[in-house]
Amino acid sequence: MLKTQDCGSLRSKDIGQKVRLAGWVRFYRDHGGVRFYDLADSFGITQVVYDPEAYQSDVDVVGMGNVLNNIGREYVISIMGKVRERVPGTEDERNPTGKVEVLIEQVRVHNASKPLPFEIAEQKNSMLPGEDLRIKYRYLDLRRAEMVSNLRFRHRVLSTARKYLDGIGFIEVETPTLTRSSQEGARDFLIPSRIQPGTFYALPQSPQLYKQMLMVGGVEKYFQVARCYRDEDSRSDRQPEFTQLDMEMSFVDMEDIYRTIEGLYSQIWKDALGKELKIPFPRISLDDAISKYGTDAPDIRFGLELVEVTDIVSCATYDIFQKILQKKGVIIAINLRSDIVKEKMLDANVGRKEVDRLIEWAKAQGMGGLTWMRMTEEGLSSNIVKYFSKDVLDRLAERMGARKGDLLLFMAGPKHQTLKAAGQLRLKLGRDNGLLEGKDHQFVWVVDWPMFQADPITGKVTSAHHPFVHPAGGDFDENGDLLKVMSDSYDLVLDGSEIGSGSLRNHDPNVQRKVFRVLGMSEEKMEQAFDFFLEALEFGAPPHGGIGMGMDRFCAMLLGCESIRDVIAFPKNKKFQSLVDGSPTKVEQAKLDELQLMTLAEEDEEN
Ligand code: ASP
Repeated sequence: MLKTQDCGSLRSKDIGQKVRLAGWVRFYRDHGGVRFYDLADSFGITQVVYDPEAYQSDVDVVGMGNVLNNIGREYVISIMGKVRERVPGTEDERNPTGKVEVLIEQVRVHNASKPLPFEIAEQKNSMLPGEDLRIKYRYLDLRRAEMVSNLRFRHRVLSTARKYLDGIGFIEVETPTLTRSSQEGARDFLIPSRIQPGTFYALPQSPQLYKQMLMVGGVEKYFQVARCYRDEDSRSDRQPEFTQLDMEMSFVDMEDIYRTIEGLYSQIWKDALGKELKIPFPRISLDDAISKYGTDAPDIRFGLELVEVTDIVSCATYDIFQKILQKKGVIIAINLRSDIVKEKMLDANVGRKEVDRLIEWAKAQGMGGLTWMRMTEEGLSSNIVKYFSKDVLDRLAERMGARKGDLLLFMAGPKHQTLKAAGQLRLKLGRDNGLLEGKDHQFVWVVDWPMFQADPITGKVTSAHHPFVHPAGGDFDENGDLLKVMSDSYDLVLDGSEIGSGSLRNHDPNVQRKVFRVLGMSEEKMEQAFDFFLEALEFGAPPHGGIGMGMDRFCAMLLGCESIRDVIAFPKNKKFQSLVDGSPTKVEQAKLDELQLMTLAEEDEEN
């Protein structure tokens, strides 16, 4: 054995013991012939010492000195030695092993290291090298304690989930990753088949159809820590491959699913965070989420809710509002209450500047105008109140619950954009005024989703979630107002981020066909894309439902990481490149020939 314990474990009680340690030489320094080495592994750092004066005669002091002379940073060594107390005054309070050190009696060098492309140290984020460099040398970046502990946390979350679900009768089933190209919404990653030239598999966007076929197969409670692939345009905090905790259950209603998921997260809270989680989670309808928070993924940890005041201000003569009302726009207000804002907003002069800054911010976000009124002893006041009658101002103050010192902010414009913009303003106000500080994480179920929505550009009917969602009540009239059809689906939102989405499913093949039809799919297309799945539903599919929950963002949020890449061992960068192995890469012509694929260059030649 090269090590009897890890580099994070020695304490004062171990003084006098002979130990073996192995790891990487993170730093070393020489103090007048006494050499100190920070020996690191993924559990911690122990100071090991070469101290020529301290050895008994049976130790080869010169030989060992020569070996140690040649080692550098991140060399892999193992040592044998005796634990001793550090010289008083040289203890390191920040390091749990910092009261002791090990006097090296034997050393072995297992491997050298090239000079490092960046320091492996516990730097604050701002001191880290550029992220691309960290991703290229991920194996070095992973040696930082923070990264290892992120992976350990992620492991704990997933292993708790596995244990918990196993305990309530779920089984983990792997579904294929070479699958049929589907219509789940995003673009597929395609894999050419060599044996059937000209045909393709697709990497799964999620195990959706397979998990539903598992239900047909009688696997009543399924889960999988599933890798999903979506070829979307790169956005800063997305990954083309990501991990979902994917679940499906038969013979359940939505309440059963909510309960199961709430139980699961409360166990994760206990095991991974050591905290109690309050269950059941609150629920909010999609309509309320949008009208109060301006988003379908509300952060309900603080108030500052949006209030529509269109009806009240419609009789004011204020030009800007009138123009917007003529175009059927809306006026949305937020009451920045004086008792929750940071002090400086209350000062009339500074407050005014802060408001100007907010207006600038709104403009910079492309949000159009922002107007304001402040509540005083005499009622609402600002440079626009002259356009409003006293009655209108009183009603406004009443609806907004305005008290002295409160600042009312108004945004006006087309309904959808204005609510969204006001929702962003709300988040900014919450952050700027410290309303999130010290707040616990907060889940919320967003419920009462419609089945369909109209594409804002083409007007085409699309699924609000995906085509396999069950309509509320089990069926719908395909000739009725499709946008009014409600669904049995839900989103799970944590602190303002959607982390999961699910529904009951169509187990009746006729309803499933109807959904495909209203989404504009011809019978022919339906057969071509979903024949196997529709047929499976025809063999006695049980009622079923489930959910898919993103694990990357979830772990990143719980750890307070800025990026989901910090909880992924080998992530893609922002351009979706895997810098550690250089993929995607070109491949040899011979490989393309085997697949009977042409390269772009060849195609150019042919044309
Ligand atoms: N397959 C869905 C998704 O990936 C989740 C679900 O409905 O279970 O979003």
